[in-house]
Amino acid sequence: MTDIDRLVRENVRRLIPYSCARDEFKGKEGIFLDANENPYGKLNRYPDPYQKELKARISEIKAIPEENIFLGNGSDEIIDLCFRIFCNPGKDRALTFHPTYGMYEVSASINDVELIRVPLTDDFRIDMERTLPFLEDESLKLIFICSPNNPTGNSMDTEAVHAIVENFRGIVVIDEAYIDFSDQPSFKTLVPVRQNLIVMQTFSKAMGLAAARVGMAFAQTGIIEYFNKMKPPYNISDINQKAAIRSLRDVDAAKRRIARIVAERKRLEKTLAMTGFVEKVFPSDSNFILVKVRDADLVYSRLLESGIIVRNRNKIVDGCIRITTGTPTENNRLISALKKINS
Ligand code: PMP
Repeated sequence: MTDIDRLVRENVRRLIPYSCARDEFKGKEGIFLDANENPYGKLNRYPDPYQKELKARISEIKAIPEENIFLGNGSDEIIDLCFRIFCNPGKDRALTFHPTYGMYEVSASINDVELIRVPLTDDFRIDMERTLPFLEDESLKLIFICSPNNPTGNSMDTEAVHAIVENFRGIVVIDEAYIDFSDQPSFKTLVPVRQNLIVMQTFSKAMGLAAARVGMAFAQTGIIEYFNKMKPPYNISDINQKAAIRSLRDVDAAKRRIARIVAERKRLEKTLAMTGFVEKVFPSDSNFILVKVRDADLVYSRLLESGIIVRNRNKIVDGCIRITTGTPTENNRLISALKKINS
């Protein structure tokens, strides 16, 4: 048994996965009478359960072997699978650095897993002094590091992330949903050397495919095999696999769109910093900006009256709203609405 097997829930280790028709016969040619499909129609066949064509393309672009890639129905499915694979309900624990993406906590609750929230420092960095004692905790199975972090927008310190990955015996999940908007390199390069690491990315942000629900996990095969064992057989629809493949046809165009979004974010940062009621614009490595204002509830509702919807994060980060970068036209509308509040 490997160290990873030891971390996996015993029932999952013993699980005999569902074997679908496409698991048994893998060819593409023939008369298919094996999966109780309808012989008529355009979307009548089940999709490739292992998304081979899409993974081959991702493998080229990300320089990661196909067998180290798992695709989920959005990163949200991958987060949930992590809890279901590694955490015994009512017994094991997981840890996040607060404030962060809300689904870690929701998935923990759904799976009846206690979540430890270690607060980030005032400038939203990982507090190693507060974190270190937890690394020894035998009941702690998962640590989520969101970098760049939602809703704060900043990347986590490389040394802190390395220290956690190296010293923790459980699984470290690094959520890089916003990595393509950042100058920081991805932690995916650690995957070949760290068997306890899962790096997640998504098609929802930089690739503009939030509607298609395609999330990626990069990890050693010891972990990928459990993901494949646990997932519903056809977790990514054929339509969504094709949408993701299409989005990867012109990677340069995607890069140009990312650069445009980052340039607009910088323009917004400057404009916001000069706005009267804005107290602080937090540095961002993502496609959104966290802004501390004099009265977050008021700013939120006044923007809403102008037909502009931002995220009121006042309850999570005192006095803050989170603004996603839109198109130049949308951002101009935002700026004039903010000026109206100011006057
Ligand atoms: N991780 C983070 C940090 C996010 O902010 C989000 C979406 N807001 C997700 C994951 C979810 O990604 P997906 O659309 O791939 O489920």
